[in-house]
Amino acid sequence: MHYPLSIKKLVEQFSKLPTVGPRTAERYVFFLLKQNSAYLNEFSEAVKNLKSDIKICKDCGAVADKENCEICASPDRDHTLVCVVSNTRDMVSIEDTREFKGVYHVLGGLIDHINDLGPDKLNLKSLIEKVGSGKVKEIILALNPNIEGETTSMYIQKLFVDKDVSVSRIARGLPTGSDIEYADSMTISNALKYRNKLK
Ligand SMILES: [Zn+2]
Repeated sequence: MHYPLSIKKLVEQFSKLPTVGPRTAERYVFFLLKQNSAYLNEFSEAVKNLKSDIKICKDCGAVADKENCEICASPDRDHTLVCVVSNTRDMVSIEDTREFKGVYHVLGGLIDHINDLGPDKLNLKSLIEKVGSGKVKEIILALNPNIEGETTSMYIQKLFVDKDVSVSRIARGLPTGSDIEYADSMTISNALKYRNKLK
């Protein structure tokens, strides 16, 4: 059976979301069809304003509500301890463990030579500046245990080889090829706690 065009269009949009297949997309659309217009307005407004309401924290590069994210703005956090992550989702996963009391630095990706993503495309300049200012004592590399994560970790380690900063890496509790984003809190907590000192 052919759906009306407005349904088809929305099914197509939902199908583009990660892990959503056409069947699930259809379920979403029929769920929305059953809702009242107040709900639908709220839903579409949230999607519409998603990008315009978002800012990038000028200190760490995470997506935030303001110029500075809550973590960077907090005097209760240890600003000498910086956990380097690939993206904001990984930062949130680590934050959910409630174990980490330092601040973060979001790279906005990982070095990926196959897809022509070099270090120049990453948010590294401000990390180098932060370390250069002498305010950072330790950097913890919390990057996914895959080729891109390894390459990026090695690159960052080399960047600071002559600098007065200690560099460590989360322990290998995370299985190779896995994602920090999907790891459970206990695994992330332990990986942070038993981090390996690189220099
Ligand atoms: Zn921040």
